[in-house]
Amino acid sequence: MFGPSIPYKAIMPQRPRKSAPRPGQAPVLTRPVVLVDAPVDSPSDAPADVPADVLILGAGPAGLLCALTAARRGRQVALVDAAKTTARKLRASGGGRSNCTNLDASPAHYLTADPRFPAQALKRFPPQAFLALLAKLGLSAHEEDFGRLFCDQGAGKLAEALERACRKAGCRFILGRQVTGVSPGEAGFRVDTDKGPLTSPRVVLALGSPAWPALGGTDSVARLAGSLGLRHLPARPALTPFTCTGATLALCRELSGLGLTATLSCCGKAYTDGLLFTHQGLSGPAALQISSHWRKGEALTIDLAPEADLRQLLRDPTRGKALARTVLAGLLPRRLAEALLSDKIGAALPPELADAANRRCAELPKAHIEALAGVVHAWQVTPSGTLGMAQAEAASGGLDTAQFSPKTFECRTLPGLFAIGEALDVAGELGGFNLHWAWASGFAAGQAV
Ligand SMILES: Cc1cc2nc3c(=O)[nH]c(=O)nc-3n(C[C@H](O)[C@H](O)[C@H](O)COP(=O)(O)OP(=O)(O)OC[C@H]3O[C@@H](n4cnc5c(N)ncnc54)[C@H](O)[C@@H]3O)c2cc1C
Repeated sequence: MFGPSIPYKAIMPQRPRKSAPRPGQAPVLTRPVVLVDAPVDSPSDAPADVPADVLILGAGPAGLLCALTAARRGRQVALVDAAKTTARKLRASGGGRSNCTNLDASPAHYLTADPRFPAQALKRFPPQAFLALLAKLGLSAHEEDFGRLFCDQGAGKLAEALERACRKAGCRFILGRQVTGVSPGEAGFRVDTDKGPLTSPRVVLALGSPAWPALGGTDSVARLAGSLGLRHLPARPALTPFTCTGATLALCRELSGLGLTATLSCCGKAYTDGLLFTHQGLSGPAALQISSHWRKGEALTIDLAPEADLRQLLRDPTRGKALARTVLAGLLPRRLAEALLSDKIGAALPPELADAANRRCAELPKAHIEALAGVVHAWQVTPSGTLGMAQAEAASGGLDTAQFSPKTFECRTLPGLFAIGEALDVAGELGGFNLHWAWASGFAAGQAV
């Protein structure tokens, strides 16, 4: 199932491109231009005064895969990153287990202004291609639910293996170096950093998004876009937990740590997956998924028992003598059923319904059956907010994709400039789709730079 079905060599051309540049495209320089610059201080970093014909800004997963692909084509590649450690988000991904791809990595799983944009790159670098790369790196993955693939060796080993492969392919890392500006010049691009400028004929923006700043998320792409005259769609937190107030918060706190499978819907979207009650509100995969679509003030509709039908159970003549609360307790986790019926929390059930739950099923009027079913299958919760960028696994918004080729990821108005990964207005659903986008876009640009 997980063995590589596409030979790695078939998807990773080894020879440098020799063809002449197309009109409007930056020339492929045989002697790259570079500004001499002071070496960076970290012993693991390469001096910045060695020529590079591709400068990749950001050594996250998108930058690393782009670098590896380009270096294996014979390009001289250097990666610049503000952090002293590469790919910090990748190292933290999947709680350290890295949900590194998804067997169903198709455009339907991405939030972007142009849903057609990701299609080409995803087609050219399917999950099987990533699995083939993993195998080449001496790593493997296993499937969990919903086609989600996790790296058997963990996120840290995956990041280490990618960095090692890049170094082996000749890529140089300029770490601890913050990019402050990018501007087009006669011989390509000038990249300003906090330790002096660099130049290169080709520059790849792989600087990610502002999501989860404690792991290196910054708004650098938005700032660079402004100075380069590129459109940038406002970044919004995606895949982030909800906060609640009042009675709902009291219920969440009472149930903190409890998880169950639920369907959360809002804004025409619905996700069935794990829901977790927390001290701040609601989290878990289903809550993170719907948070990418939620807007402040909107109510979430939560089905706490999506695989059952409480109406049917309460009307079932064989349960006529059972108390409604017993049926409820059989359907939901015990703590949740008790909390919903407890007047001390007063969160979900109005008093008359709590009374109804103490009656036998056969005695329940239709209105009470409907109301009880409504609480279980269509619980209305209006979160007060989310934990925002601070704990967002991704951000929607980013560089408007209309400005970039969906094949090469090169900027249409600034030839020689590329953008990949979360820097672009493409945000994936939870389940390995964001990392897969980093791989697919990095691979496509790596073949073109
Ligand atoms: C906690 C957490 C868990 C996650 N788990 C998963 C998961 O299991 N599966 C999944 O698919 N996705 C997951 N994601 C999302 C995934 O990690 C990101 O979508 C992915 O890392 C984006 O890759 P990128 O290379 O585009 O950007 P990034 O990984 O953000 O890399 C950008 C790089 O640019 C550098 N940088 C930024 N600004 C500057 C600057 N001005 N100068 C120099 N360098 C700069 C940063 O230091 C960083 O190294 C998770 C995210 C988080 C935060």
